[in-house]
Amino acid sequence: MGDVLLFHSGQDSAHVWVDALKAQMPDLEIRITPDIGDPADIRYALVWRPPADFFGQFPNLALIANLGAGVDGLLARTDLPAGIPITRVSDPDMSRMMASFVLFAVLRHARDIPTFERAQREGRWHYVPPRTADEISVGILGLGQLGATAARELLRQGFKVKGWSRSPKDIEGVECAAGLDALPTFLGGCEILVVMLPLTGETRHLLDAARLACLPKGAKLINVARGPIVDEPALVAALQAGHIAEATLDVFEKEPLPAESPLWKMDNVLITPHLASVAIPKSAAAQIADNIRRVRAGEPVEHRVDPSRGY
Ligand code: NDP
Repeated sequence: MGDVLLFHSGQDSAHVWVDALKAQMPDLEIRITPDIGDPADIRYALVWRPPADFFGQFPNLALIANLGAGVDGLLARTDLPAGIPITRVSDPDMSRMMASFVLFAVLRHARDIPTFERAQREGRWHYVPPRTADEISVGILGLGQLGATAARELLRQGFKVKGWSRSPKDIEGVECAAGLDALPTFLGGCEILVVMLPLTGETRHLLDAARLACLPKGAKLINVARGPIVDEPALVAALQAGHIAEATLDVFEKEPLPAESPLWKMDNVLITPHLASVAIPKSAAAQIADNIRRVRAGEPVEHRVDPSRGY
């Protein structure tokens, strides 16, 4: 039996990842789809959105490593072999890149930049008195690897930071709440809301019309997690009504965002094409190599996904 890693991604550069993995594990044999060779050799699969029925062909698979933090696409598949550990990327460089995007988006709203962009397009000198960060409450939905890092970054800037998660958390300086019952009150206290949850059965359309209505009038919404966590037509309606004043959207119900989406033409919406953060080969490769060593040694892997909870 071989001890080979198979790489598959339609989006990432295979050679960059192979070089990064080789730097960590020079002895590791790596194949890139479609050059699979003998399927029985494949022990580790490093993948982003592989084709249907991909996993069934490898009888000796011992590790599935998702080439990103979000595993909603992977867990929705019907060909996942039972009992084989699935891991996701959870590295500090990816968290830092995400935290910098969230900081940019929060500061843009906190400093009224969209208002000035509109005024500039109209050739208007439009003074709005600046507010200090400690007057502005920023709520983060999801206090995992990415959410907690973003929370600390916002704290450093002096914002009032609140966070919401499934299980209770204790993060210094962050007012933490947990569970669905706490959500309406939590939302009511957020001038800027940042969505950083995984997409699961529980979080799909979590932010529907009723929950969006819990936000204070004039709130700003930033979604850097997954589009379907927010009911998009309800969001469009809330933006049109002015209940939500502005949005920064990196993710959408359907990607690429269809040309006919009303979001494209809304001047209170900033659209970015799902790039708030990415897996960074150099740092993520160290984590993947460590897990391969663990599999070889018969030890439990790190950053394991729990399919029953969906993340
Ligand atoms: P983690 O798994 O580390 O954290 C998830 C957080 O969400 C945890 O705090 C968890 O609570 C909370 N959560 C999960 N389900 C619920 C629920 N039903 N109710 C309340 N809280 C819940 O994920 P990451 O921080 O690493 O990543 C978050 C998401 O960001 C990814 O799943 C991915 O979809 C997205 N992403 C987007 C990118 C982009 O470029 N736009 C790039 C990378 C990731 P608890 O702590 O109690 O478990």
